[in-house]
Amino acid sequence: MISVQEALQLTNTYTKCTQKIINIPLSESLGNVLAKDIESPINMPPFRQSAMDGYALGSIEEKTFTLVGEVKAGDPKDPNLNKGEAIRIFTGAPVPSEAKAVIMQEKVQIVNEQIILEEFPLLNSNIRPKGEQIKKGTIALSKGTVITPAGIGYLATLGVTNVAIYQKPSIAIVATGNELVPPGQDLKYGQIYESNSVTLLGALTKSGFTNVECHKVEDEYTATVSILKKVIDEYDIVLISGGISVGDYDFVGKALTALNVEEVFYKVKQKPGKPLYFAKKESKTIFALPGNPASALSCFYVYVLPTLLKISGHSNCNLRRSTSISDSVYSKKGQRAEFLKARIENEKVTILDGQASSMLRSFALANAMVYLPEEVSEVKVGDSLQLINLP
Ligand code: AMP
Ligand code: MG
Repeated sequence: MISVQEALQLTNTYTKCTQKIINIPLSESLGNVLAKDIESPINMPPFRQSAMDGYALGSIEEKTFTLVGEVKAGDPKDPNLNKGEAIRIFTGAPVPSEAKAVIMQEKVQIVNEQIILEEFPLLNSNIRPKGEQIKKGTIALSKGTVITPAGIGYLATLGVTNVAIYQKPSIAIVATGNELVPPGQDLKYGQIYESNSVTLLGALTKSGFTNVECHKVEDEYTATVSILKKVIDEYDIVLISGGISVGDYDFVGKALTALNVEEVFYKVKQKPGKPLYFAKKESKTIFALPGNPASALSCFYVYVLPTLLKISGHSNCNLRRSTSISDSVYSKKGQRAEFLKARIENEKVTILDGQASSMLRSFALANAMVYLPEEVSEVKVGDSLQLINLP
């Protein structure tokens, strides 16, 4: 059995960004990952721009100016401006080349076509210099950046219309278990509702993975081999839930062996999620997650999500980690590292009740997981705890 750190290292070592690069319209690019640095095709702003409604001034050594004209936003003109002269100007308008400053209209008095200032203006005040935000040819956004609404707007201000992005990986979820029925049907004795598919689907969607399909298989060897063969052939990533433990009806491990996948590791010294399995088959990535609902989701956040983000070309693949002060007590029973469902509020972290791997209630209320390394056995109030912040 390997440690959490070894498992994280192995998933990282065996993962490369393998996604195809495609060009798509900027307007359709939300949530995608840039596959190339984007250089700004223009200076932004493209000309000296007025930041205020007011007056462009021909000098800064006077307090009285004669009004000689007007420039509004979009006017393609660059009128002459001498010492002692001012031009009416509006926000976003090109500032005349000879202007030394723009004064806000609230700060002047107008008497007989004369503009009168209370104080001397500062050189270049209220003027946005050409290229102030970004200069032509410099990098506007780098490869690996996720495109946000603001990112789309920013690239649009630079005139960008298309972006090179990594194609999103196709993902199959396979839920195993005879006892599982979809919500909506009546439960017979011995049955439970299947929840891991929708949990994983939600977690994937939340992180921008939209190309996902769910499958279901009974605890039966031949059927398991057949569905796993199909999904490994057809998808980039396969996430299997359940059937990876040591029970007589856990067929996932045997089926994957029969399909000649390359096992990278099986079993991690952690709670929940000990029977986690990670494998490759050529460019394909396979995780078999323990079926207990909290184990599956915990393994997803700790191992699967960073792996998927790396495959998809993200420059930042890890969930945000932080530390916080405990307002709970907790004692660990075994030697394994633990991931505990927790809630951070007002800079304190509470370890929630109901940590069993079969329970999802605490996860549904959690906004973080506390990571307790193998060597920590007790948590006291006031201890500093390592946290993984949930997305
Ligand atoms: P397994 O890993 O298949 O031994 O399953 C461990 C526990 O998780 C069992 O109690 C299963 O009934 C439960 N379980 C497995 N898969 C799911 C699922 N997809 N949805 C909800 N519970 C599950
Ligand atoms: Mg099972």
